[in-house]
Amino acid sequence: MTYKNKSSLKNSYKSLPSIFFAAQNPEQSDNPKCVLYNKELAKELWIQELLPAENAHNLLSGNILPEWAKPIAQAYAGHQFWYPNMLWDGRALLLGEWETPEWKVVDIVLKGSGKTRFSRWGDGRATLKAMLREYLMSEAMNGLWIASSRSLAVVKTWNIVQREQQVEGAILTRIMSSHIRVGTFEYAKNFATKNEMKSLIDYTIERHYPELSKRKNPALWLLEHVIDVQINLVIQWLRVGFIHGVMNTDNTSISWETFDYGPCAFMNGFHSDQVFSSIDTNGRYAFGNQANIILWNLSVFAWTLTEFIDEASINSVLGTIWEHIHSAWLVMMCQKLGIQNPLSKDEALIRELLSWMQDIWADYTNTFLYIWWNTQVKNIEIYSEERFVAWQNIWKKRVSIQTWGFENARQSMKQYNPIYIPRNHIVEEVLDTAVLWDYTEFHLFLEILKNPYVYRENTEKYMENIDGFDEQYQTYCGT
Ligand code: AMP
Ligand code: MG
Repeated sequence: MTYKNKSSLKNSYKSLPSIFFAAQNPEQSDNPKCVLYNKELAKELWIQELLPAENAHNLLSGNILPEWAKPIAQAYAGHQFWYPNMLWDGRALLLGEWETPEWKVVDIVLKGSGKTRFSRWGDGRATLKAMLREYLMSEAMNGLWIASSRSLAVVKTWNIVQREQQVEGAILTRIMSSHIRVGTFEYAKNFATKNEMKSLIDYTIERHYPELSKRKNPALWLLEHVIDVQINLVIQWLRVGFIHGVMNTDNTSISWETFDYGPCAFMNGFHSDQVFSSIDTNGRYAFGNQANIILWNLSVFAWTLTEFIDEASINSVLGTIWEHIHSAWLVMMCQKLGIQNPLSKDEALIRELLSWMQDIWADYTNTFLYIWWNTQVKNIEIYSEERFVAWQNIWKKRVSIQTWGFENARQSMKQYNPIYIPRNHIVEEVLDTAVLWDYTEFHLFLEILKNPYVYRENTEKYMENIDGFDEQYQTYCGT
């Protein structure tokens, strides 16, 4: 790869037709203090010179706008649950795009920097606890090797935010390869001219998939690529027990990243109907429904492109999505079980394990750990149950007949089965102490989550699933 001498700033989103954004300055925030600054990420992006930690409180609260920042609110619509809605950025602003010396381009976005003209009834603010939560969860996903938006900093303010109670406000700096969403295309389909939509397609391809720009039918290639990356992403969520919680189309990125960490949470006891979000009463975004929902969201994306792709091609692409999801899921589950070359009959083996786990709400993370590792796992008694032992014997035989043998299979399982996930009770514990100004536990937990595939001594408490906690646990969007 060739390196540039210098990083540079761009405001390329502003080259799109004006219907896609509106210039908008952040509101002033009271007495901002930087409580988290992601030095590793800053270094990785070579961004220290632009946003030095010493001045982060001013720059990353939006109180001082450097010359390069040309803040805009982005236009998008989206299906929230089943219902289409006009949305726009109501509490986020894109300051600009940063191009690293390795040519990587990322958005720098402030979330919670005050009202925009699209805030509707909202206050444009975010709570400190919710922004700390986004920081923790997004960095945990990155540690799990799952594509995600990243968090550069959290700046606490003295602006009081009214939620159920009055709480402290904060602003998060989100880094992401772009904030173009399925919802951006829905907005364009409904409100833009054909030429304006074409500009959005061209811009998206240029930014994310430049290799497609020379193809004969770039829109079709774009559709196929987005289907591919989004399916892979959701399959990775299923690998680690992640429940996004609000897979609305505006929260499905056109790039390959997980983002919008509102009511997300990790599942402990396995149940495909597991839901934590307080508003998801019908389980639309339940753990086991996420593959169906990504299919739904991708179908919406396909619909937005109907002026650029003929019907037969769209039908043919959509017609194979389910098969695509299913085979990606099978491959992933086989990786979790150390099965080298998945066969269709392996599905029965996987389903029997999941069914046993679901019947007794066995811990998802720890069960896979037990299978490859056998030690350090709590509540080990359940693994003496007849049904599990019978399953394990069949699995051992299946794995042992492979050319790479049992030991290699076990070794390979390490990289697909994390030892640590952000367990809900610990997430809540560290956030509750952090909002009271004690970040010690938060940082300890974050360190562990950055490296979740490597065991550390004396960390048993992070591996425990506390009985009864998840039954009561609820997460919230209105943060
Ligand atoms: P989200 O639930 O974060 O995906 O947001 C959905 C929509 O609600 C987006 O248009 C947000 O900008 C808007 N929104 C969420 N919270 C607020 C808030 N506190 N103030 C203004 N707009 C908000
Ligand atoms: Mg959103």
